[in-house]
Amino acid sequence: LLVADEVSKSFGVTPALRGASLQVYPGEVLALTGPSGSGKSTLLHCLSGILAPDEGRITYDGRDLGAMGDRERSALRRGAFGFVFQFGQLVPELTCLENVALPLRLAGVRRRAAERAAGELLARLEVTDVAGKRPGQASGGQGQRVAVARALITTPRVIFADEPTGALDSRNGDQVIRLLVAAARERGSAVVLVTHEERIAACADRIVAFHDGAPATTAATR
Ligand code: ATP
Ligand code: MG
Repeated sequence: LLVADEVSKSFGVTPALRGASLQVYPGEVLALTGPSGSGKSTLLHCLSGILAPDEGRITYDGRDLGAMGDRERSALRRGAFGFVFQFGQLVPELTCLENVALPLRLAGVRRRAAERAAGELLARLEVTDVAGKRPGQASGGQGQRVAVARALITTPRVIFADEPTGALDSRNGDQVIRLLVAAARERGSAVVLVTHEERIAACADRIVAFHDGAPATTAATR
């Protein structure tokens, strides 16, 4: 579905990626692990079209991201990709329900239909009680579940999650990941999950360990 082919990327004199190759298969949950500075986030940004590689290619469904125009690339990001960050980055002025409905509203879906779908996802992620509250009134774990719901609402082909549980305690973190993985599987979305925690990586179908700017080992978990 998504392929990185010998991707290199440097920031000034610092090489972040050195010839990294990786495949993301449809519907799989893929964990990227490895030491701090090994290039995990940089590869995630290249895969999702946020950063352009210095060398190598990223292709989505056989289409070279580097050969697309900016508008085509942002349309792909909005339509086919979903994102969950370490800190939810929800819109503070909107309720949690409105935050989740927002990507559908931006895609032209009517308010009632968008909010109904958002309400169903909030229920699926077990955070119905914060639907009418602002993100500032939700706990960290609730906020991340709302962020997961917002990433899933458009049924993206790929969800990118960079340390989505980094700011949570382990119990809340585990629960957010379990719900993310289960809901993504139901919708057939692939998940590319960056994590430091082995316990969380073990929820994935496949683990790719980074070292010095490229995948070092790959392991199947099932
Ligand atoms: P962590 O686990 O700490 O998040 P990471 O594996 O995600 O680490 P990256 O963020 O991909 O690592 O960084 C790889 C290298 O690139 C590091 O040496 C980092 O300092 C450097 N780097 C990343 N982003 C930038 C940037 N915007 N400007 C300059 N250097 C950067
Ligand atoms: Mg990182």
